[in-house]
Amino acid sequence: MSENIIANWLNIPHVRPEKVDIRGESTVIELSRERGGFICSGCKKIIKNGYDCRKVYLRDLSCFEYNSYLALEKFRVNCPSCGIKVEELGFARVFSHCTKRFEDYVAKLCKILPISAVAELLELDWKTVKEIDKRYLAKKFSIPDYSCLKILAIDELSYKSGYRYLTIVLDIVRTRVIWVQEGRRKETLDKFFAEIGGTRAKEIMAIAIDMWDPYLASILKYAPGAKVVFDKFHVIAEYSKMLDKMRNTGLPLTLERRL
Ligand SMILES: [Zn+2]
Repeated sequence: MSENIIANWLNIPHVRPEKVDIRGESTVIELSRERGGFICSGCKKIIKNGYDCRKVYLRDLSCFEYNSYLALEKFRVNCPSCGIKVEELGFARVFSHCTKRFEDYVAKLCKILPISAVAELLELDWKTVKEIDKRYLAKKFSIPDYSCLKILAIDELSYKSGYRYLTIVLDIVRTRVIWVQEGRRKETLDKFFAEIGGTRAKEIMAIAIDMWDPYLASILKYAPGAKVVFDKFHVIAEYSKMLDKMRNTGLPLTLERRL
């Protein structure tokens, strides 16, 4: 098979395929580097000479039924500005054992499959898949979109066996979580309103909450124009509690007899 065909398939600049090995159920493509310097991962400057190097195997997209690895020498540089730094390869993150395109593929699969299923399918460690997915999500949602907030729902979620709480804010119109913070006090929700700013808070039309007074206090302070909607489940639960209380005092018995 022509090396040019493999080079075209690889589609990675500044490397050349030298050899393709099949080892067990894996394909290993040995790459040589084009001379022309190394990019310092600290300041992104090109450093002419390498300081030292070691061989690395980077998981790449599968070739037919084989898991594929790119084998190449990865250098460290002695950067005048940063000191000893690992070089930056354009096609893989600095300390990753996978190529960027393979990580993109893992992240795409994580959208439709559980992490454990992706790990099994690609023969990866569960933690590796989780880290890739976490990084992808952090990148995607690092800049929250607080535009056009009209109808929100705010709820709490308990964790650590009910000892800790998270406050979760949902955008009902766009059906997505837009903010999460540890705690469920008024000050917790105050932080959300501070983050979106006074103008946006005043444009909110309605907020659904679960009759939790600290949330209500925060809403009345920062979004006074929003209609507060108590969800039906909590309203009925409160009525039930009140009826039980009245029964215990004897008052409802009289009422019930009259009925
Ligand atoms: Zn540098």
